[in-house]
Amino acid sequence: MSTGINTSSLGYPRIGKNREWKKLLEAYWAGKIDEQSFRSQMEEIQLQHLQTQQQAGIDLIPVGDFTFYDHVLDTAVMFGIVPERYGYKGGDIPLDLYFAMARGNAEAPACEMTKWFNTNYHYIVPEIGRLTPTLTANKPLAAYRFAKERAGIEGKPVIVGLYTFLKLSKGFPAAEINGVAARFLPLYVQVLQELKAEGVAWVQIDEPAIVTGLTAEDQALLQHIYSEISAAVPGLNLMLQTYFEAAEPLEALLALPVQGLGLDFVHDGGKNLESVTRLGWPQDKTLGAGILDGRNIWRADLDAKLALVAELQKHVPQGQLILQPSSSLLHVPVTVEGEVKLKATVKNALAFANEKLAELVLIAAAANEGTERYAAELARSREVLAEFRALPERGRADVAEQVQALALLPDYRSLPFAERVKVQQEKWRLPLLPTTTIGSFPQTAEVRQARLKWRKGVWNQERYDGFIKRQIAEAVTIQEELGLDVLVHGEFERTDMVEFFGEKLAGYLFTSGGWVQSYGSRCVKPPVIYADVAFIEPMTVKESVYAQSLTKLPVKGMLTGPVTILNWSFVRDDLSREAVAGQIALALRHEVSALEEAGIEMIQVDEPAIREGLPLKARDHAHYLNWAVKAFRTATNHVQATTQVHTHMCYSEFNDMIDSISAMDADVISIETSRSHGELIVSFEEQEYDKGIGLGVYDIHSPRVPVVEEMTSAIERALRVLEVQQFWINPDCGLKTRGWEETIAALRNMVKAAELVREKSGAVRK
Ligand code: GLN
Ligand code: ZN
Repeated sequence: MSTGINTSSLGYPRIGKNREWKKLLEAYWAGKIDEQSFRSQMEEIQLQHLQTQQQAGIDLIPVGDFTFYDHVLDTAVMFGIVPERYGYKGGDIPLDLYFAMARGNAEAPACEMTKWFNTNYHYIVPEIGRLTPTLTANKPLAAYRFAKERAGIEGKPVIVGLYTFLKLSKGFPAAEINGVAARFLPLYVQVLQELKAEGVAWVQIDEPAIVTGLTAEDQALLQHIYSEISAAVPGLNLMLQTYFEAAEPLEALLALPVQGLGLDFVHDGGKNLESVTRLGWPQDKTLGAGILDGRNIWRADLDAKLALVAELQKHVPQGQLILQPSSSLLHVPVTVEGEVKLKATVKNALAFANEKLAELVLIAAAANEGTERYAAELARSREVLAEFRALPERGRADVAEQVQALALLPDYRSLPFAERVKVQQEKWRLPLLPTTTIGSFPQTAEVRQARLKWRKGVWNQERYDGFIKRQIAEAVTIQEELGLDVLVHGEFERTDMVEFFGEKLAGYLFTSGGWVQSYGSRCVKPPVIYADVAFIEPMTVKESVYAQSLTKLPVKGMLTGPVTILNWSFVRDDLSREAVAGQIALALRHEVSALEEAGIEMIQVDEPAIREGLPLKARDHAHYLNWAVKAFRTATNHVQATTQVHTHMCYSEFNDMIDSISAMDADVISIETSRSHGELIVSFEEQEYDKGIGLGVYDIHSPRVPVVEEMTSAIERALRVLEVQQFWINPDCGLKTRGWEETIAALRNMVKAAELVREKSGAVRK
C-alpha cells in the first residue's frame, strides 16, 4: 500500500478463463479424479487467480474469496453449521460432507439454495437452528498463508460478516437474532485475532445485508457486533464492505468502530455520494470506493470515473481512499481476450474482470500522478468508447418513434377482465378446471444433439426443421392421448428461454466465453443487449402454427416476457433498465400480433424472473413493479378480447406482489407453489384475485411421479380459497429437465386428478 490512492479487489471470478474450475469440480464429482489430485489442481487455479490480480497491479488482493462451491457455505462449515441430517460429529469437515450439503447425497437432501441479493448467483442457505457453532478451521487464515507462501502476496482476507451471515441464515426466529449473534461472536473474534497475529493488515468484512435497509434494532445489532469485535481485536483494520445499493443511514455506519467502510458508487442511485457530501468523511476512516461496475461488462468512462475520484478526494484525506470495483467480480466473466468473433468496436467496449482491474489501476495511477502522464491511455479509452457509443444501432430513430407512438396508445385491453372472460368462455368452451402444461417438454439427448449438429453445420436448416417438426408432432399426439385440454408445442427448438429470443431480436450480441457462475459448478452465459432492441421478423410463429395445424385443441403460443429477457441479460448501461424493458416489450408486441394474425389466439408470455429484479430496499419496489407490469402490458394488451393471454412465474415467492400480478392483466397465470409451500394459497385468502389461475399441482423439480391423491388434495386445498371457475390444473414449471417416461406418468395422474375433482364437485361451467 502506498501513501496515495490504493486499489483493491473485492473478489475474483472462481470459474477460470476456460471454466477449468467448473470442469475440475465435475470431474471430481464424477469420480474421475481423487481428492488429492482435486485439491492440488484447485490450488493451481487459486494461485493463478491471485497472480493475475498481482500482475494487474492491485494493492489489496482478496484471499479467502476462492471456494470449492460457495462462500456462504464456506462460512457455515467454518463455524460448524452442519445440519444434523448429515451425521456430522465435529472436527474437520470432510470434502464429501461439504459437497453433500451443497448437492445432497443418498442419505440427506441438499441444503436450500437461494439468490444472493439481487444477483443471479445462488448461495447455500445456512441452517443454524439449535446448532452450537464451533470453529472448525480458520479458512481466511489458510488462504492468507497460501497466498503469502505461494505468490508472496500479503492478501486481504475476505469474510462474510456476522450480521449478513445471520440475515441470510434460517432455522431461528428473527426475534432471537441477538442471542444467536452472541453464540457466533467469540468465533468471529477468534478468527480475526488469529489473522492479526499472523500480521494481516486489512480484513474485508462483507456486510451487503446492510443495503437492504436497517431498522433501529438492526443498527443496534451492528453496533454491538462491531464494538465487541473492535474491543477484542484492537489494531486490526476492518473494511466493512457494502455493495449492490446505497448504505443507509450512513451516519449510523460511520459511527461503527471499524477502520474502513466500503461503499458502492455505481448501484446506489447517487445516494452514497450524496451522503458523503452531506456528512463529510471522518478523519480516522478509510473509504473503499466502489467506482467500477462489478456486475456489468462495459468499459468505463474513465473521465467520469476520474471526476468521481476527484469529488471523493474533496472529502476523504489523502491515503485513506481505496478504489475498487463496486462488488466482487464474481458476477462478470474473466476476460474479453478470447472474444475474437466480435467486431472490434464492440469488443473494445467490453470490460470483464481482468479488464476492469486494469482500468482500476489506470484510474488510480492517473489520480495519483496526474492525468497528463496517462494521456495516451486515457485518450484511447475515450476514443473506443466514443466509437461504440456512435454505433447507429444504439440510437435507432425508428425505435424511438415507435416508443413515442406507443405512449399515446391506451395501456389496457379492449375489454376489462370481467367482460373478457365471458367472450373468451364463449370462444374457447374449455371444460371446468382445464388442464395444461407450462410449455417445454423433455429436452432429450436426441434433441440436444440435433441442435448441436445444426449449429455446427452438420445438419442443414431443412433437416433440423424437419427434426423439430417431428418432435412437435409427437408431443401433440402425446398430449391428445393424455387428454390435456390446452396444448403446447414443447419448445424443442429452444435451448434457453432468453437466448432463443436474443438471437432473433436486433440489439443483442453473444460472447463466446462470457460465462458467470450461477450456482456451484453451474455457469450461465447471459446474452448481451448492446444496442436498441427491436423486432426483425416472427420468432415463434412457425412452430406454433405447425403444432396448431395438427390438432383441434388450442395450442398456446409461447414467449418469454420483457422483464425476464431483461433480467437474464447483460444490459447496456447508457439507458435505464426501464427504457430497455420498454424496447423489448415493443418487440414482443410485434410477435404477439404475428401470432394472433397466424391464428394463435392463446398466447403465454412467461415472466419467471419478474420478481428477482426487485430492488433490495422496500421503498423502491413500487417504482420497479410499476414499469415491469407496464412492460408486460405493452407486450400483450393490444390483442383481441377473445385472445387469451397467459403468463407463468416461478423461482420466487409471489405472495407479497399479488396486486402487481393482477395488474399485469393476464387472463390466466400459472405459478410455482412448491417452494412457497402453501403460503401463496394463504395469501389468496387475504387478497382478491379474480382471473384465471393455475397453482402448480405438482413439483417438476423431482423425477418422482406424484400419485393422483396428492394432486387432488392440492387442488381441493386451492379450491377452498379460489373459485372453481377460475382454477387451472398444471404442473408447476416447464418439463424440459424431465424424462418422457416420468412426464407422461405424472401428467396422466394429473389429468385423472382433474377428472376426479370435477366429478366430485359436480360443478359445471356456468
Ligand atoms: N415456458 C417455459 C418452459 O416451460 C417456462 C420456463 C420457466 O418457467 N422458467 O420451459
Ligand atoms: Zn417456471
